[in-house]
Amino acid sequence: MRTDGDIKKAGKADVKIKSETPVQYLKGVGPGRAKTFEQLGVETVADLLEYFPRDYNFFEQPVKIEELRPGQEFTTVGVIESSEFNKFRRSPIFEVTLSDETGSCRVVWFHGGYLKDKLQLGQVIMVTGKVTLYKHQLQMTNPKFFILDDDSTDPAEYFGGGVYPATAKLSSRQIKKIIAPALEQLPNLVDEFFDKKLLKDSELIDRIKAYKWIHNPPDEEKVSKAKRRLKYDELFLMQLGLALRRYRMQHFSQATPLKNSDKIDSRIRKRFPFLLTGDQDEVIEEITADLAKDEPMNRLLQGDVGSGKTVVALYAALLAVANKQQVAIMAPTEILASQHSLSIERYLKGSEVKRVLITGGITGPKRKEILWQIKSGKIDIVVGTVALLQKDIEFKSFGLAVIDEQHKFGVHQRAQLRKQTTPHCLVMTATPIPRTLAMTAFGDLDVSVIKHSPPGRGAIVTRWVEKKNRSKAFDFIRQRLVAKKQAYFVYPRIANTDQSSQVKAATDEYKILSKKIFPEFNVGLLHGQMKSADKQKVMDDFRKGKIDALVSTVVIEVGVDVPNASIMVIEGADHFGLAQLHQLRGRIGRGQAKSFCFLFSDTDNETAASRLEIMTRSNDGFEIAEHDLKIRGPGEIFSARQHGLPDLKIANIIDDYQQLLLARKHAFSVVETDPMLQNAKNKNIRTALLKKFGDSLGLVDIA
Ligand code: ADP
Ligand code: MG
Repeated sequence: MRTDGDIKKAGKADVKIKSETPVQYLKGVGPGRAKTFEQLGVETVADLLEYFPRDYNFFEQPVKIEELRPGQEFTTVGVIESSEFNKFRRSPIFEVTLSDETGSCRVVWFHGGYLKDKLQLGQVIMVTGKVTLYKHQLQMTNPKFFILDDDSTDPAEYFGGGVYPATAKLSSRQIKKIIAPALEQLPNLVDEFFDKKLLKDSELIDRIKAYKWIHNPPDEEKVSKAKRRLKYDELFLMQLGLALRRYRMQHFSQATPLKNSDKIDSRIRKRFPFLLTGDQDEVIEEITADLAKDEPMNRLLQGDVGSGKTVVALYAALLAVANKQQVAIMAPTEILASQHSLSIERYLKGSEVKRVLITGGITGPKRKEILWQIKSGKIDIVVGTVALLQKDIEFKSFGLAVIDEQHKFGVHQRAQLRKQTTPHCLVMTATPIPRTLAMTAFGDLDVSVIKHSPPGRGAIVTRWVEKKNRSKAFDFIRQRLVAKKQAYFVYPRIANTDQSSQVKAATDEYKILSKKIFPEFNVGLLHGQMKSADKQKVMDDFRKGKIDALVSTVVIEVGVDVPNASIMVIEGADHFGLAQLHQLRGRIGRGQAKSFCFLFSDTDNETAASRLEIMTRSNDGFEIAEHDLKIRGPGEIFSARQHGLPDLKIANIIDDYQQLLLARKHAFSVVETDPMLQNAKNKNIRTALLKKFGDSLGLVDIA
């Protein structure tokens, strides 16, 4: 008969591990370690299984010292008999004599001073490295080494092992010991997602094996097989989440269909003083096909600054108006909103379409009147900032939302907007999003791309200018200014508080440019700390040509459209990211004249230099974005968290792009045949999906 005492004695070893078991119930984990694990994001056994090694060490079976031969790599184990640090040599070396019962061997580490407190007499260590002959004696040089514990000198423990990301309180070896029992019970902890046939066809190993080998692989090849499977699963679940979200959007919300006709189409096109480009026609076709449906459109329109997105958006807006629907056109800032309003006014001169620009400056009865007009359906197109239009505006029949995100894409805003009603939604962005990202971050959106800008644009020549060539560049710019062209001078900062700063600032340089370098021209200053009205005045003057050269910060990144401005100097160009440089440059090259962009920088930083190089080579936003993605990684361009997607633990959307495509296709086909994931076959997938995404996809109500 078992007594309480027995149970206690049996202790943790007897606990049947489940995936939701807190790690604290595992052998070797007390409250202290549980805390440490928590900091590593590991709370349950399932989390622990997802705590993957960051690296692997594969050692050959160790040999006895007498078996060592020069010219080959070996692993051996021995005790440190003597050690010496010789720091007076030209390259200081740390040297030990390693012995076992069969012989001894010299082991040296060049610049090994850091080892002198680490490796001590009497310690048993395992070394792996190339063996050579030095003065007729066997020697191993700069080997990898492991100090073996006193209590377990069995080197077998070190073979085929993962190296875990460790902390000061929890070593990789300790993690390995803790995870070991869970690995023995994998069949209870891990459920297969796919049937045998699919695994075979996709050359994937089963999930249990994958978990086993990712933690404890017998060899290198098994690691890559395990990784392949787990990456696939991760990408598959992510894509499945996106597929489901999209499915729900399409099937659970209603929108007013906006029908097009030849008559409407030609009436709209008459508004534009030019023929639409092939790219514009193509995306308009995609958009109108969406709008004709009774499910809300959810489309992202991508295209460089100046590629003609606004025209496309206006087409969609006018189509909505023709269908007696109201349209909101939203921008992130008031400057941009008024810019939109300006260009809309240009196209709609004399039109009966009622439009209004709402700004924060409109208050009191005037504002009330406008809100009432919108609510009663008297106004067709409302332009404003996202914040304004979301807050307190009610529509009579809200048919289309156009959101210009420029390069700060905020998905939450989109979500919020949807609650109000379900208008069709067109999001515009000037951030060229590489296909890889578009497919993950925005995987639930349809994407349209304008690749080529309208014709008749002068080319942009970009040059990287170092200090010694600055005055030459200024001479060149002077000639262009004399020829009545206009120029931007962009600085990374408004002002320098620190006198010793190497970074040039707009307010300081404005003085130099206006008084010393270009005294004969009218130089203006624009930055974010100026009053709204002053900013507006400077921009108007620049637009009208009253200002020849505009000194500014990145505020000109948005909202200024002056085709006659064909020169840009970017000072301290190495202080800007690639995407930003490209955005800035998009301000020129809008007219017919050839444009020139000068990147002033004396950087010798390699990454910065490579950014500047790319800028001089390419004008293609997508190419630049791909480079950016490689240099910075996806996280900085677009945070996955922002989208409510969990971070990827093992897959990488760039390196594993081919896998991503497969997983995406697979995931979307699963949703097509079993949109509620009710099929018994998909039970484990569904469970995993809910666990991974929880509420963030609104899946919980899929019963
Ligand atoms: P984006 O919104 O992508 O920055 P816009 O729609 O504002 O670009 O267009 C940039 C400029 O190009 C505008 O001055 C616009 O009048 C002009 N434009 C747009 N489409 C065409 C076209 N098909 N042909 C000629 N000019 C065009
Ligand atoms: Mg625009």
